[in-house]
Amino acid sequence: MKEITSFPKVSLGCFPTPFYKMENLSRKLDMSIYVKRDDLSGLAAGGNKTRKLEYVLADAMAQKCDTVITTGQAQSNHAVLTAVACRKVGLEPILVLKKRGVTGIKGNMLLNKIVDADVRFVDSDHYEDVYREMDLVAEEQEQKNRRPYQIPLGASVPLGCLGYAAGVIELFAQADQRGTRIDHIVCASGSGGTQAGLIVGAKILNKDTKIIGILTSPEQDFDKLVYNLALDTCKLLETDLNISKEDIILKEYIGPGYGLPSAEGTSAIKLVACTEGFLLDPVYTGKAFGGLLSLIREGYFKKNETIVFIHTGGLPALFAVDADYESKQELK
Ligand SMILES: *Cc1c(COP(=O)(O)O)cnc(C)c1O
Repeated sequence: MKEITSFPKVSLGCFPTPFYKMENLSRKLDMSIYVKRDDLSGLAAGGNKTRKLEYVLADAMAQKCDTVITTGQAQSNHAVLTAVACRKVGLEPILVLKKRGVTGIKGNMLLNKIVDADVRFVDSDHYEDVYREMDLVAEEQEQKNRRPYQIPLGASVPLGCLGYAAGVIELFAQADQRGTRIDHIVCASGSGGTQAGLIVGAKILNKDTKIIGILTSPEQDFDKLVYNLALDTCKLLETDLNISKEDIILKEYIGPGYGLPSAEGTSAIKLVACTEGFLLDPVYTGKAFGGLLSLIREGYFKKNETIVFIHTGGLPALFAVDADYESKQELK
């Protein structure tokens, strides 16, 4: 097996991120719930894409590219972190975003403006159209003698997953140090790379920890996508870690739709802010934590089991979602 440390990496964030027990909430729910604060990863407003981009942008630089093209929704955390990371390492960012969900200059749209990202909107609901536009933008850049590097949605490619294989190894080292066994890891899943990376990293360490991905947007065959990403990451590492379909655990807590606040998500945001004093977001982590609370209520976990929630970031969305959404009103 190739060592993860043998892959080139650019330093973009502040690691290790904090890991600790959510004491107040654990007491309240009579459970052991820990949090891995990847929202504090240190690049712009933080979040999970930082770990992925450390490997993906290193690859762009190794290939002597000077321009990076990526995509996402209008309020994409991945797109903005890519733009900020590009500025930090001297690459030119171009963001080809889906037009739906444009909110004006707030949240991540504001951050894109601060770092002068070249933002292009595609008026389509289908990523095929967006990827076609990315190809056109790449051609346009080549004609200008630029060397473009394309990053697909969420940087969920094997090199990006490597960031989370390394991330979970960092987490287990912290847990071992404090003598904490981890039975379950819960994270929001969107393009699958975080979950796939967590699965691969846990396998490398031979842990039987269950990795639970919580889907916050409706996706078809998402389990296959995560499975294939995990296999492709193993291929990159030149190893066979015996990953099976049973390793892919998915739960859906979408609410009214992707990016639209849900009642469960909103109440999870309030609960965590009022007990633990940190902020979840309405698009991913609020819904994922709401899902975790539902699973606890349904008796999915045993009382003596330890759960780690990966806080994947997303803070800017808290300030971007339209205030006229019903569930946002509940925050007032
Ligand atoms: C992108 C994102 C996720 C989902 O991660 P994937 O690797 O795309 O599955 C979860 N939470 C936040 C805040 C994100 O920005």
